[in-house]
Amino acid sequence: SKGAAMVTAVAYRLTEQARQIQQTLAEFRLSKNQLLEVKKRMRLEIERGLKKDTHKEATVKMLPTFVRSTPDGTENGDFLALDLGGTNFRVLLVKIRSGKRRSVEMHNKIYAIPIEVMQGTGEELFDHIVHCISDFLDYMGMKSARLPLGFTFSFPCYQTSLDAGILVTWTKGFKATDCEGEDVVELLREAIKRKEEFELDVVAIVNDTVGTMMTCAYEEPTCEIGLIAGTGSNACYMEEMKNIEIVPGNEGRMCVNMEWGAFGDNGCLDDIRTIYDQAVDENSLNEGKQRYEKMCSGMYLGEIVRQILIDLTKRGFLFRGQISETLKTRGIFETKFLSQIESDRLALLQVRAILQQLGLDSTCDDSIIVKEVCGTVSRRAAQICGAGMAAVVDKIRENRGLDHLDVTVGVDGTLYKLHPHFSRIFLQTVKELAPKCDVNFLLSEDGSGKGAALITAVGCRQRELDAQ
Ligand code: BGC
Ligand code: MG
Repeated sequence: SKGAAMVTAVAYRLTEQARQIQQTLAEFRLSKNQLLEVKKRMRLEIERGLKKDTHKEATVKMLPTFVRSTPDGTENGDFLALDLGGTNFRVLLVKIRSGKRRSVEMHNKIYAIPIEVMQGTGEELFDHIVHCISDFLDYMGMKSARLPLGFTFSFPCYQTSLDAGILVTWTKGFKATDCEGEDVVELLREAIKRKEEFELDVVAIVNDTVGTMMTCAYEEPTCEIGLIAGTGSNACYMEEMKNIEIVPGNEGRMCVNMEWGAFGDNGCLDDIRTIYDQAVDENSLNEGKQRYEKMCSGMYLGEIVRQILIDLTKRGFLFRGQISETLKTRGIFETKFLSQIESDRLALLQVRAILQQLGLDSTCDDSIIVKEVCGTVSRRAAQICGAGMAAVVDKIRENRGLDHLDVTVGVDGTLYKLHPHFSRIFLQTVKELAPKCDVNFLLSEDGSGKGAALITAVGCRQRELDAQ
């Protein structure tokens, strides 16, 4: 009958639709072989970054940090720390006490950095930072103390010493002018001078990965790797000095800030990048850069999801084919929304409520699809991030000529900490792809602040030794 034919036609359209949606998502579902390939390529890029002959054109920069050892518990003193480049900008006072009753006490205040300041002039940005420090010192009643300061600056910097770092390029949401190619420690010192209100002794510039590693190593000496899976993505680890060809000396180790977010910028991940990854890149502040980071960090996962949803809507599979203003808005799917949408405890009705909050009118079917899209994108992120980490732990194992390595990774970042599945899939991937390593993961408590203070303490002590 006519009715039955219509039912069949509708059913056919629905299965055909489901097939096409699955076909779209299939590109994000990587096989074990593909992940092993990602691991292998990361390893190649690591070597290129470390070697003198290839360092210049290498995309994974493997930047020296001048941190030569993890903490030993003798660190002591009061320090200021700044944390710029994560989800929040913070100023901290960190009191470290050595001896039998080691302790670290921290006070901190969060400050907003308005987008006009993030993307204005460098002078405005650093004046704003100093303004926040000034407010913090007033609040703590410490304006006249002239404390040593550690600056956690979570961007790629060429360091020639603990207290000099030339910004290679801005990443994430920052784009202030006249900073790239400049020593950010100098920019900070100049801004402090301009203010003429207080003096500070800037002792160290610290990447957040390094701060995280140091914080965890303070509690757990086997920690020799730092990982950030948050707004951005990056890792650091203790590398043999003899392998870091751009730094003279062959003795001992130095922590290397990998800047693995730039992995793929030479096209080596093109075969797994989708048209949605390309669209995210084209829409970003730094087109062509940080391609790996754009596939696996919190700032971009929601954007990948949004690009897929736009496409599925255009093809008539979602939101009744209507692309709303919301869906056109960059950055609507923050990590916290993705985390909520993917939470197992959440009923579909609640997923619809979240979408509603975001201004997206969804049917029940829509919410099922949205949830699947989110899950697929975040699973790939955790897996390729895990493939990168597998390359790092195997590199350390080989450095030491071991058949088996036990190592601890200090971890921080909103994606790792807030997302309901990311950490589990990440850990599972590392285990699968690096079977000769037993990798233990330790969440850092406030790594950026504490770590910067620990590094500053070591820097101050070294300076006293040098002066003798
Ligand atoms: C930066 C790294 C940083 C990472 C995590 C990346 O965008 O380039 O320096 O460690 O984000 O914050
Ligand atoms: Mg941070």
